[in-house]
Amino acid sequence: MAKKPEIDALAGGAAFRELGHELVDRIADFLDGIPDAALVPPLVQGQSLQDMRARLGEGGLPETGADPRRVLDDAFKLLEEGVRINAHPRSWSYVIGSAAPVGMLADLLAAAFNPNVTAWDHYPMAAEIEGQTVRWVAELLGYPVGCGGLFTSGGNVANLIGVLAARRWAAGADLREGGLAETDGGKLRLYATDQVHTWLDKMVEVTGLGTAAITRVATDADQRMDVGDLAVKLAADRAAGLRPFLICASAGTVSTGAVDPLAALADLAEAEDLWLHIDGAYGAPAVASPLAPEDMGAMGRANSLAVDGHKWLLAPLEAGIALVRDKRQLLDAFSFRPSYYAFGHGDEEVVHYYNYGIQNSRCLRALKVWTILRCLGRQAYAEIVDRNIRLARMIGEQVQTTAELEPGPQGLSIATFRYVPREAQARLEAEPGFLNELNKRLVGALQRSGIVHVSNAVIDGRFLVRACITNFRTTEEDVRLLPDLAVRLGRDLLEAG
Ligand SMILES: *Cc1c(COP(=O)(O)O)cnc(C)c1O
Repeated sequence: MAKKPEIDALAGGAAFRELGHELVDRIADFLDGIPDAALVPPLVQGQSLQDMRARLGEGGLPETGADPRRVLDDAFKLLEEGVRINAHPRSWSYVIGSAAPVGMLADLLAAAFNPNVTAWDHYPMAAEIEGQTVRWVAELLGYPVGCGGLFTSGGNVANLIGVLAARRWAAGADLREGGLAETDGGKLRLYATDQVHTWLDKMVEVTGLGTAAITRVATDADQRMDVGDLAVKLAADRAAGLRPFLICASAGTVSTGAVDPLAALADLAEAEDLWLHIDGAYGAPAVASPLAPEDMGAMGRANSLAVDGHKWLLAPLEAGIALVRDKRQLLDAFSFRPSYYAFGHGDEEVVHYYNYGIQNSRCLRALKVWTILRCLGRQAYAEIVDRNIRLARMIGEQVQTTAELEPGPQGLSIATFRYVPREAQARLEAEPGFLNELNKRLVGALQRSGIVHVSNAVIDGRFLVRACITNFRTTEEDVRLLPDLAVRLGRDLLEAG
């Protein structure tokens, strides 16, 4: 009688060993092939939604089990054929991390022991590993290592946690019972530029602050927060009886890598008794490079700081990290004492992570970052970040010397530019949107080229090609391709009409 497949699915031992070895071999082949792979395989390019769904099969939940080898083989092929290779050395759209292979193994290891990092007592060593990782990340970023910190799903939630701690600090202990309505909450105001990522828009809904709580601050010519304008708006809001409580600053905006004047903002926050939160989801690790703007040295003065593990810290998705300078403020915001949790250690002695954030059950996301940082060490890690910044600058320099390319803002490891053909001036009179339309099509053409993957930024009404390099595989040769390719594809678009 044939063995039932579901027995293998639940088995350890020989079945797991065999399936695991096969899968690891295939993953290793995939990883080896990344630099030479087409960035967007032809199958994805030509594939319609219907094709894709047909490949997946329209059947419902299977009633009976299948051979795990076949299921894993299917999964591998589906993902491989449908891949846009994020790890590819010329994958520069959005902020795409390049996952360190050893981090993938760490994720497997974490899944194997499957620790629940809820309370310290659930898996003490897992909680200690998370604690050590938080301290290492803080040290890397120049943040006080005695801070409170935890791993989250990503940057959005890491930012949310910083702001929830700020809100609790501002509204006081009555927040828990009375909510914002009873605590002057309707008057709370926070300050941010229009360059802050959409986490801010979601956050004001989630927290009940509402968009009215955001006072937008002007930016300077480099998309940095204008401190003078901030001071004026603070005074105006105070005069109107409102309660300023929070500055949401950026250490590397998502569009152009702008770093706000963090030292001046920290001074102002201290003088005005405001909470300074810094979104460093993308950019905070740049502080490891000597090329980082001096202001990044002031990140350690923020009340809270968010960074993404799955972007420039080279971890596979998902891993965000929230750091809060005073750990008591995290406890104030999130600590509860349910009757079903009775532990031998208090919050002063150990970290019960369910008291630090939103989640209850939590996986050991920290392990991949712990493993990567241990394997690389600070020096090798800093060199990767530094090289990425140099490569982005190299794109900027090439753009400067390429006829028909116009440089846009450049910050950290982001370069922007647009294609401005010789005949642009004549065309613009009749079609004011000509350049934006052309560059929008150019980004599409670059993406479809299979050679590079870039995205866009819109700055001061200009639609720009944007390349963001957070990839340890990217080389000089890779970046040198971009400017000429952009001009060639731009020409083709013009000629095609
Ligand atoms: C990516 C990003 C975020 C959001 O992080 P997720 O990990 O996608 O949730 C927030 N801010 C900035 C600057 C980012 O680059």
